Amino acid sequence: MTGEVVAIEEEKGPDYGRLQWRILIGFVLGLLGGILVYTFARDAAWVEPVVTYVTNPLGQVFLRLLFMLVIPLIVSALVVGIADMGEIRALKKVGIRTLVYTVIVSSIAVAISIAVTNLIQPGAGVDPVEARAMLADGSEGAQGILERSSEAKVGVDAVIGLIPSNIISAMSDNDILAVMFFALFFGIGLLLTSGPRTETLKQAFEGVFEVSMKLIGLVIQLAPIAVFCFMFNLSAQFGWELLIKLAAFVAVVLLALGLQMFGVFPLLLAFLAKKNPITFFKETREASVMAFSTSSSNASLPTALRVAETRLKLPPRISRFVLTIGATANQNGTAMFEGVTVLFLAQFFGVDLTLGDQIFVMLICILAGIGTAGVPGGSLPVIALILGGVGVPPEGIGLILGVDRFLDMCRTVLNVIGDLVAATVISAHSTDVTGAEVTGDETLAAPELSS
Ligand code: ASP
Repeated sequence: MTGEVVAIEEEKGPDYGRLQWRILIGFVLGLLGGILVYTFARDAAWVEPVVTYVTNPLGQVFLRLLFMLVIPLIVSALVVGIADMGEIRALKKVGIRTLVYTVIVSSIAVAISIAVTNLIQPGAGVDPVEARAMLADGSEGAQGILERSSEAKVGVDAVIGLIPSNIISAMSDNDILAVMFFALFFGIGLLLTSGPRTETLKQAFEGVFEVSMKLIGLVIQLAPIAVFCFMFNLSAQFGWELLIKLAAFVAVVLLALGLQMFGVFPLLLAFLAKKNPITFFKETREASVMAFSTSSSNASLPTALRVAETRLKLPPRISRFVLTIGATANQNGTAMFEGVTVLFLAQFFGVDLTLGDQIFVMLICILAGIGTAGVPGGSLPVIALILGGVGVPPEGIGLILGVDRFLDMCRTVLNVIGDLVAATVISAHSTDVTGAEVTGDETLAAPELSS
């Protein structure tokens, strides 16, 4: 996306750091306030009106503002993400390999995260009566925002159901997969049509994306207050148990990310690229540090490009192509985080996710790898969307926001290192292409790094 890197750099001004602190303060104060109420004033008469007329409505306002922006954001990100793959036409084999690699490795990542969360059940064990009461409150609020997508379909119907017969009704029904299908299809259409008018249309989608991101940035300013309200409501109801569950959640996210980073990536490197994983991790340290400190794949792109060329010594044309596409379209850490979070919150609120629901979550997480912006907190709107789709109270977002900063730093490292692994593997298999088809116009796949 043109100029995106610059925009992101601007976005990551000193304000972003301050906002994170404010969110953390809101989180801690809400948690402490709620726990005090849980311990000393659980049955006090004032608690109910405070929750009903103050904390609950404030939280709902924040969520509605966020949901309002999700459809324009996801549609524009997907359309532009696919249309930007225009270089595929020029790089043929490399493009197709990148696509196939991304889909397979993202699927492995999401499968690991879903398996680990099902196995460890970090969110389970909350008093079922309380959880159900919470669920009733939550889903009531959530219903107005997000209708549960039409009755879960199975088998052939589920596959046919991916294709919307009417895109407007798919949007209003919140049929996320169908909307994503349309956006992908539209993106392919845009990719195949070239001319001044379609170029203008693509720019318009880029404009929609930029405006949506800007507005989400504004809404996020309200996060400290909203997080305070969510945490207050939840901890007044669940007390200390909430903290224990949250710690378990953080541990499971780190475990899942660790399995991909130190299990799957070394295997891919050793077997598909004949590269020593330890050497690889040493050579890519600079990119890891950058990703960890900025929490943004896009902001880390210039460093990743330099590392690929100077340290890993990958052919520039291939690495530039794979890394540029990967910064937005290959986000293993993000896909894993989204999977763990949705399952954790479902367990926490006692929502039984059927196999069909879990497959739905998996598919969305894989697609979300393409649709999630590579900026700090980019996962947030996508998680909100998936929660609504599987009937988990979106208020659960408040629960994870307080710990999101640290987990964002960790998952971004996986996103960026995952792109470098992809570039290494694809380069190893494209030496023929490097010599014949790929060399030539060096600027074709060069990313636009205007900073
Ligand atoms: N911060 C992540 C990235 O830039 C996106 C996310 O998962 O929030 O890669």
